[in-house]
Amino acid sequence: MLLIKNGRVLDPASRTDASLDVLLDGARIMETGVGLSAEDRDIFDARGLVVTPGFIDLHCHLREPGQEMSETIETGTRTAARGGFTAVCCMPNTEPVNDTASVTRGIIERAREGATVRVWPIGAASIGSRGEALAEIAAMKGAGIVAVSDDGKPVATARLLRQVMDYANALDLPVIDHCEDPSLFGGGVMREGSTSIRLGLKGIPSQSESICVGRDVEVAMLTGARLHIAHLSTLGSLEHVRSAKRMGLRVTCEVTPHHFTITDEDVRYDTHYKMNPPLASRKDRDALIEGLADGSVDAIATDHAPHHPASKEVEFDRAPFGITGFETALALGLSELVDSGRLPLMRLVELFTTGPARVLGVERKIAPGEPADLTIFSTDYPWTFRASESPSKSRNTPFDGRAFRGAAVATIVAGRIVFRR
Ligand SMILES: [Zn+2]
Ligand SMILES: [Zn+2]
Repeated sequence: MLLIKNGRVLDPASRTDASLDVLLDGARIMETGVGLSAEDRDIFDARGLVVTPGFIDLHCHLREPGQEMSETIETGTRTAARGGFTAVCCMPNTEPVNDTASVTRGIIERAREGATVRVWPIGAASIGSRGEALAEIAAMKGAGIVAVSDDGKPVATARLLRQVMDYANALDLPVIDHCEDPSLFGGGVMREGSTSIRLGLKGIPSQSESICVGRDVEVAMLTGARLHIAHLSTLGSLEHVRSAKRMGLRVTCEVTPHHFTITDEDVRYDTHYKMNPPLASRKDRDALIEGLADGSVDAIATDHAPHHPASKEVEFDRAPFGITGFETALALGLSELVDSGRLPLMRLVELFTTGPARVLGVERKIAPGEPADLTIFSTDYPWTFRASESPSKSRNTPFDGRAFRGAAVATIVAGRIVFRR
């Protein structure tokens, strides 16, 4: 039994913000209260620290099977634990694509052998994510997927999206869409604007994303299915989500830490600033922060997208899209959202815990009988992020060398401390 003493327990589900002890009995929470007795129990002194339900990341790429040069389930989940995540949802754009129950089972098996945190696979919406025929969604659900997505690209057509949503709806799975209009995206490498013109890099207009979000919301209206917009990055997209929520549709969205922290003005000839969707304008970034504050945005998700160093050490145009994100997510949330006065700490915690849980249709709370998945963090621990010290196999981050205050101190999964700073 593990007794966590004197932490500041922040639980968005019950709006608890109090100094409490939490007693874990194996994989479950046994009791919470003041002054719980400590005999025969391992003690974790959480004085001065925040204790929350375990963080969930709705969006990451663990690269296994098939791209183990960049990441594996073992290295990726070890990195996630350092960021305070107790569960991560991995996108299906692996090699092979996770579009069958046997690939799903393989991922779950590998996670059972070597993962540090829980791995919840997302299945492809279409075979090979090619946007032609439906993947075997029901069989994958039986094998353990928690959502469907063709991430890396949007579900190709409105007609296919309708079919995917009808199936997903019958199986009570959310459809996660990576929104872009290919005809507007066409070969762009960063957000279209004055910086793309100055750098001479081909731009992608923000409407590439928002047109697709609008299409998706319309199809969600047609089907009544659960739609979740991945890595939403523009004001136009956010307005579509807001109007969907006003209409009572089951539409949710996530925002990444890099999109609420940096903008297209920060882009330079450094491929660690190349991701998809690209960094948005300052106006978009400010709108995202407003959406995170007012409840329009449901979750912060990292889109941790490791790429082996050699693949990023090329010209900007030729580099793959994506950056790593597990280890800097919480610290960026604390500095950019909470310390800046834009969000209360409780709201930030919600965006990492109950928010993503609700998107998946599950609960997260600190109460007797609940899973003993907890994140314990400091809001003022000073540290500097060094990509070279990361357990990830990749180093593609624009935040290398950045100084932070606040970090995960312990990550607890099923009652076991899997990471401790
Ligand atoms: Zn994507
Ligand atoms: Zn992604």
